[in-house]
Amino acid sequence: MASSGDNRGMKVIRLKEGKERSLQRRHPWIFDSAIAKGGGDAGETVRVESHDGQFLAWAAFSPASKIRARAWSLRAEQRIDAAFFADTIRRAVAARARFPIASDSLRLVHGEADGLPGLIVDRYGDLLSAQFLSAGTERWKDVIADALVEVTGIAHLYERSDSGVRGLEGLPPVTGWLRGGERAGGTAVTIHEHELKLTLDVAEGHKTGYYIDQRDNRRLFTEVVRQFGCRSVLNCYSYTGGFSVAALAGGATEVVSVDSSAPALARASAHVELNGFDPAHHQALDADVNAQLRAFIKEGRTFDAIILDPPKFAPTAAHAERAARAYKDINRLGFKLLSPGGLLLTFSCSGGVGAELFHKIVAGAGMDAGVDGYLLKRLEASSDHPTTIAFPEGEYLKGLMILKR
Ligand code: SAH
Repeated sequence: MASSGDNRGMKVIRLKEGKERSLQRRHPWIFDSAIAKGGGDAGETVRVESHDGQFLAWAAFSPASKIRARAWSLRAEQRIDAAFFADTIRRAVAARARFPIASDSLRLVHGEADGLPGLIVDRYGDLLSAQFLSAGTERWKDVIADALVEVTGIAHLYERSDSGVRGLEGLPPVTGWLRGGERAGGTAVTIHEHELKLTLDVAEGHKTGYYIDQRDNRRLFTEVVRQFGCRSVLNCYSYTGGFSVAALAGGATEVVSVDSSAPALARASAHVELNGFDPAHHQALDADVNAQLRAFIKEGRTFDAIILDPPKFAPTAAHAERAARAYKDINRLGFKLLSPGGLLLTFSCSGGVGAELFHKIVAGAGMDAGVDGYLLKRLEASSDHPTTIAFPEGEYLKGLMILKR
C-alpha cells in the first residue's frame, strides 16, 4: 500500500558529493551511481539529501533500476500523498486546455514533463488509457487511478502497462481495466482527429492504443498534399493508415499503405471507407518496407509524396549506430522514389537518435541517392506530448519535411 504521505520519518538517500547538481537543475532522475547510501522499498517515497545532508527532493525509490529514484517534488514542505497526485494531474490536464488540440483524443499526462515520472495517460474519446512505467507509479496506482477519474470526469480507465521499459524497473507487464470496465463497446473506440475519424482498440493498439503524437503531422500532411497537388502517395510503416487517410483528405488519388501487420492494414482499409473516400484510391500492401521500396525502384515507380515513419530503431543511444544504418537505408530508397518536386516526410521516434544526428543521417541518404532538397520544416510530436527545458530526454519524435529540388 502507498505510504501515509507524512514526510516525518521517511527513509533517506544520501548522494555523493557533486551529484546534487542535476536535481538542482530540476532534472528528476537519480542514478544508482550518484547514491552514497540509503534506500527504500519499491516505489517508496524517500528523502533525497546532498552529501552534506541538505534536502534536495522527495523521490520514488526504484531498487531494480539504474535510474534508482525519480523525483516527485523538489519542495521540502511538499507531502507526497493523494492530494499531491490529484493536484499534479489537474495541472497537467489544465495545461492541455491551453494547447490548440483539434481532437477528442490527446495525451493528458506525459511522464517527467508533467512532473509524474513514469506515468503516461492518454484520452481516447470517452476512455483513458494509462501506462505505469516506474516503481513509484506502480506503488501509487490506486491513488492515481482515482485521481484520473476524478479530475477528468472520465469513468473508463484501461491499463496498458505492457511496455518493455517496465522490465528495467523489475515490474511485470499488466493490462486490463482499472476503473469502469463495464463500457458499451468494451475497449474499442472511434476518435475524431481534425476532420478524420479513426478507430482503435486500447487493449490491442500500439502503445496506449494509437499514435496520437503524430496528430499535427497528419494534419500538416493533408495541407501539403493539397498545396503541392500530390496525387500519388506512399505511406511506409503505415500502421492503421493515419497518414493515408490524411493524404486522401488532401486530394491524393493513388495512396499505398505499406506495413508488415495484416490487422493494421485491414484497419487502414476500413479507415478509407469510414472517412468516405474511394477505396479504389487506396492500396494496402503487407510487406517489409525495405524490400517493397527496392521492388518499387525496380519497377520504375515514383511517388509525389512519401512518408517514412518506422518503429523505434534505437531505444537508447547504445543502439544508435546500427539504427543510423537502418534509417539511412530506407531514406536513401525513399529519396530515389520521389517524383521531381516530390515531398518526403521522414521520422525517427528513437530516443537514442537526436534531431541533429537524424538530420545528418537523412543528409547522407540524400547524398547517396543523388538527391538534394529544401528542408521545409522540422517536425516533432504534437503539443500534448511536451518536452520541458529541464528534461531534454523527453524529446523522442523528430522528423523532417523535405521538398526534392
Ligand atoms: N505512421 C503510423 C505509425 C507507425 S508505427 C501512424 O501514424 O499511425 C510503425 C509501424 O511499422 C507498425 O505498424 C509496424 O507494424 C510497422 N513495421 C515494423 N517493421 C516493419 C517492416 N520491416 N516493414 C513494414 N512495416 C513494419
